[in-house]
Amino acid sequence: MHEIQVQNTLSGKVEPFVPLKKGEVHMYTCGPTVYDFAHIGNFRTFVFQDILRRFLKLRGFKMTHVMNLTDVDDRIIANAAAAGVGIREYTQKYVDAFFADCKAMSVESPEHWIRATDNIDIMVALIQRLQKNTYTYDSEGSIYYRITKFKDYGKLSKIDLSGIKAGARVDNDRYDKESARDFALWKAPKPGEHFWETPIGPGRPGWHIECSAMAMKYLGETIDIHTGGIDLAFPHHENEIAQSQAATGKQFVRYWLHAEHLLVEGEKMSKSLGNFFTLRDLFAKGYKPSALRFALASVPYRRQLNFTFDGLQQATSSVERLRNFVARLRDEKFPAGKSASMAERIAKAAGDFDAGLADDLNTAVSLAAMFDFVREANIAMDKGEFREGEVKPALEFLATFDKIFAVLEDNDAEKLTTLGYGTTAAGPDDAEIEKLVADREAARKKRDFATADRIRKELAGRGILLEDTKDGAVRWKRK
Ligand code: AMP
Ligand code: ZN
Repeated sequence: MHEIQVQNTLSGKVEPFVPLKKGEVHMYTCGPTVYDFAHIGNFRTFVFQDILRRFLKLRGFKMTHVMNLTDVDDRIIANAAAAGVGIREYTQKYVDAFFADCKAMSVESPEHWIRATDNIDIMVALIQRLQKNTYTYDSEGSIYYRITKFKDYGKLSKIDLSGIKAGARVDNDRYDKESARDFALWKAPKPGEHFWETPIGPGRPGWHIECSAMAMKYLGETIDIHTGGIDLAFPHHENEIAQSQAATGKQFVRYWLHAEHLLVEGEKMSKSLGNFFTLRDLFAKGYKPSALRFALASVPYRRQLNFTFDGLQQATSSVERLRNFVARLRDEKFPAGKSASMAERIAKAAGDFDAGLADDLNTAVSLAAMFDFVREANIAMDKGEFREGEVKPALEFLATFDKIFAVLEDNDAEKLTTLGYGTTAAGPDDAEIEKLVADREAARKKRDFATADRIRKELAGRGILLEDTKDGAVRWKRK
């Protein structure tokens, strides 16, 4: 097994990963802000975090992983007030949708899901600690953090603080580096807005205090890993460090891991550009959850991911190729005996797979290890050179692969039905059908009837009927 290395945003370097307590990992993940349905960019980051967690588990670490649900922030407060409902009522629909999306995407549940609005008391207590340590000041009922007092401010996101004026404030939860200022820990209520009556006055917490308080409550004052998308490094994570360390005097997080953003066809996702997709938008078009998970997982998290429909189509075929290979291993009869060279080939693929993940979760390397092996094994099978003795080790390698990538189980149709997308109403598009029909033809030419039959069944499951005509051509139609 290879030593695990991760790129730490704090040091800017790739470092060996060694948790504080042997055999255990304490990890915090900023969860979604539940004011809308999650989009595919959010899930690029959630899938990365899932792969990280699965890999650490595979390596035998006991995980204590906390993910929060931000169910109070500027946008939620404003939307709930506009809708004339409480914030709990407003967010519930999106909380439920998020859990359902995670399930569809095979994103494992962390050990603790926590809601910000269930933890207001610990946020208030943390603000009181900061008041005692004189890192705060009050203004018009709100409480602000004095960033010039915290000498390490800016170390994570490497911002230049030279132009910052003491006492200049920012009230928005989300702002850019140019607006680096004293930020609100506690916000005085505006008319019509939801607020809590507390020992530090009426109001509501800022977004940043939420994660500091909840991470420390569930994971201790120094935690191993904190993750999120790169947009959270500033100001959110910078502010988390400032809050936590000013309260405890200890290092808050040892390894900061940030996922680069997902772009769509090379552009930032935005509703006005018409390239903004929730998971559900894609499921409604008939794309499979497994294909989306594969597409999101296949680009290493430290690289920008350019999402394209071509890429999603390729991911669909890649998953299919792997599923067909597993079925071939299970169904086909191979000559008895063992092949030392194939045994070695499997061991090498498994080693390369592990090396990729250990190298800062380089999923591209791990996938290449798997697909090179599948290609060679398929060739060996076609030539009758793959032996029965290698079936078990090959299946074991695939099982290990799936502990991380989680795409081999053929359960997309069920998942889509659960989310309310019928398999017939939202079937595959013509190009995908043509591709599968061609794959089936190629399999039949090779007399690989198991694969051909599987493709026919898969298409049937997705509402496509095939008809083999007398002249050898294949016609298809939607049920
Ligand atoms: P939010 O609900 O806005 O707090 O975001 C939830 C997670 O999604 C955070 O970790 C964000 O950094 C991440 N995120 C937001 N947009 C993108 C994107 N386009 N690509 C990758 N991650 C993103
Ligand atoms: Zn957070």
